[in-house]
Amino acid sequence: MTTFKDLGLADPILKAVEGEGYTTPTPIQAQGIPAILSGGDVLGLAQTGTGKTASFVLPLLHRIAEQGSRPNPKTCGALILAPTRELASQIAESIRAYGQKVRHSSTVVVGGARAMPQIRSLARGMDIVVATPGRLLDHMSTGALRLDETTTVVLDEADHMLDLGFLPAIRKILAAMPRKRQTILLSATMPKPIRALASDFLHEPQEIAVSPTSKPIDRIEQTVLLIERDQKRQALVDVLKRADMDRAIVFTRTKHGADKVTRQLEQAGLNASAIHGNKSQGQRQKTLESFRSGRTPILVATDIAARGIDVDGVSHVVNFELPNVPESYVHRIGRTARAGKSGSAISFCDRSERPFLRDIEKLIGKTLVERDDDGPIGNTSNGKGRKPARRSFKPRTDGAHAGGHSGAHASDGAPSGSRGPRDGKPAGEKRPYRTPRPGTQSEGAQRGRFRGSRSANAS
Ligand code: AMP
Repeated sequence: MTTFKDLGLADPILKAVEGEGYTTPTPIQAQGIPAILSGGDVLGLAQTGTGKTASFVLPLLHRIAEQGSRPNPKTCGALILAPTRELASQIAESIRAYGQKVRHSSTVVVGGARAMPQIRSLARGMDIVVATPGRLLDHMSTGALRLDETTTVVLDEADHMLDLGFLPAIRKILAAMPRKRQTILLSATMPKPIRALASDFLHEPQEIAVSPTSKPIDRIEQTVLLIERDQKRQALVDVLKRADMDRAIVFTRTKHGADKVTRQLEQAGLNASAIHGNKSQGQRQKTLESFRSGRTPILVATDIAARGIDVDGVSHVVNFELPNVPESYVHRIGRTARAGKSGSAISFCDRSERPFLRDIEKLIGKTLVERDDDGPIGNTSNGKGRKPARRSFKPRTDGAHAGGHSGAHASDGAPSGSRGPRDGKPAGEKRPYRTPRPGTQSEGAQRGRFRGSRSANAS
């Protein structure tokens, strides 16, 4: 079996990795680290939760450790672009953790934070800058940072950056860099615009993809509860009061919805906080910290705020409302079952959300709810054991998981609300029906793919 040492990483990096408790490289690391160390361009298909951050951070730090040269003022040696502030901060934390024994400089440049401290850091020259595209462009336009000496660029979660409309900004940023450079593009899906970006900016990239069987999504127990909208509130409280609930993220579609659900949970005596785009960066960081430390075990979030949140030990993801963009479902449930653990995803689906459910099933290539007909939803299981008056769907727990979604699974990157046909395979196998009462799921099968935890980062 490949070890981190076999991958050719310098000693200080190996020590940091050991300190993190990582014993073996994950598949994306085993493929990605040598590919990046070779200096060529890399196109990687990898979902969050696969260990992808270390796959590019470790080689960057290795290079800094080997080279020993310092960047000039207002320049950076390596640039990492991320879609959200939260993801950028998490990458920066990984750099700190993995780079503990390497002399290096790095900074985070994101919107929503004061520009002046960022300008001051950039003025010194940085080995690594982690940035969201908008704020980075601002700093480039004022001359706080130039990219003409940047030799490596990483585009992390490129498909999400595309969803957020960052493609033009990314093109501008790449155009400001030297032609001779290393470009690493990572994406959970490969819609056409990402392929186009890769063919415009990557030179003969080495393509790497983690095998579908090792996807974290395979370890997620997925349940759909078909309930009416007015039953959701009580069902949520029931789910969150279960004994096996350690730490949960509850997703709503809107910011207003997130605040409302948080209030309702508090009224029910549960300790919950909301995180969404209307909260200041400071509030968001504070809420995340409190969630990470376990002080607040329930986080209520919208998609944009939650994407990229890397907190180990999230036992449950609850979709209080199904997302209207099916890819978001995959990203949401990927908040659980991280770092080799298993997890549960429970989705509440009311009548109006059925089309969203169908889109999700198409995307992941798995039926989550068996359909008898397309009639109205009966009073299906609401977590209190009431019998359905009439069941038009046969909801079930899906202990065998949504295995059809692979990183390579093409999606058309369709905008919000679009529900065109996708290439998800229809579910093949039938499973015995079980009423999806919260609390009845069997634990997911594949556990412990990799051991250790992100102690330094999650603190
Ligand atoms: P990422 O996909 O980068 O968000 O990483 C997901 C989680 O896996 C993080 O909590 C990391 O700390 C953890 N992780 C990354 N690499 C390894 C490894 N080789 N062994 C164990 N855990 C890891």
